[in-house]
Amino acid sequence: MATREVNRIVHSVRQREGGGFIVRRPFPTAGLDHLDPFLLLDEMGPAEYGPGEAVGAPDHPHRGFETVTYMLDGEFVHEDSAGNRATIAAGDVQWMTAGDGVIHSELPADWIKQKGGRVHGFQLWVNLPARDKRIAPRYQDVRAAEMPTWAAASGRARVKVIAGRALGVQARAETRTPITYLDVLLDDGAEVTLDVPAEQNAFAYVYGGAVTIGARARAARDGDMALLTNADSLLLRAAAPATRALVIAGVPLREPVARYGPFVMNTQQQIIEAINDYQSGRFGAIRRA
Ligand code: MN
Repeated sequence: MATREVNRIVHSVRQREGGGFIVRRPFPTAGLDHLDPFLLLDEMGPAEYGPGEAVGAPDHPHRGFETVTYMLDGEFVHEDSAGNRATIAAGDVQWMTAGDGVIHSELPADWIKQKGGRVHGFQLWVNLPARDKRIAPRYQDVRAAEMPTWAAASGRARVKVIAGRALGVQARAETRTPITYLDVLLDDGAEVTLDVPAEQNAFAYVYGGAVTIGARARAARDGDMALLTNADSLLLRAAAPATRALVIAGVPLREPVARYGPFVMNTQQQIIEAINDYQSGRFGAIRRA
C-alpha cells in the first residue's frame, strides 16, 4: 500500500489577532492561500489569561462554508441568529454549517472572563460546494465524552475521530463532502498508520512534540503544517514525548473561490450579494435577554 510523503512544510508563527486573540495560523498566509477544500486553520492559544483578559469574537456573520471549533482547554459560549446557545467545553467539537448565513458570537465562558484561565483550541474552515452554499444553517455538537476514539492496546497511541473514519472508528459528525479530521496523540517513538482515501487532499498539523512522516521519515515539529502527497495511507511516528498532531483531509471541490472576510462564495457577484444581504439585516440578529 502506498504511503503519503511530505510535499512541503509550512511553518506557522504565534501572532496576536485583531481582537487580541493569540493564534497560530498556518493558512491562509503569504505561503499558502488555502488547501482545497480547506480555507483556514487557526490554533487558538494556548493562552493563559488573567482575570478580565480573555477575549473572543463578538457578533459577526458567515456565509458559504463551515466552521469547525475543537476545544482542548477552556470553554467558549456560542450564540447565534438562529436562536442557538451552546457551550463548547474542553474536548468538544462544534461543526457549524453557516450555509446561507448566520450571525454568531464566539466568546470565552463568563468564568474564564472573570477568573482567567487557559484557552486552547482550533478552528477549521471547510468550504462548501457551490450547490450547498445557500443551504439552511446547521449545528452539530459532539461532546468530549462521546467522541469516537481509537486507542492502541499498548496505550501509547490514540486517535480521536472528529470526521470521517480511521482505524475502524467512524466519526459522528456528518459532512457535506468527504472529510477526514483526526487528532493523533502519540508517546515518544509510537507510530500509527492511518487510511486516508487517496482522492482526499491532506495535511498534518503538529501542535505538540514532533513527528516523522512517511517512508522517508521527513520531520515536522510543533507549529509545522506538512502538506502531503496523495496516497491511501499515512504513517506518523512520534519523535518526542507528548506528540500531538491533527490530520485533516478532504476531497477537493475544484471550484472557483471568491472570499471576502467572513464570506466565501464562487463569484465576486455572490460576495457583493452576501455583503448586501448582511448589511440590510437579512442574516437576522442574536436576540439576548
Ligand atoms: Mn465565526
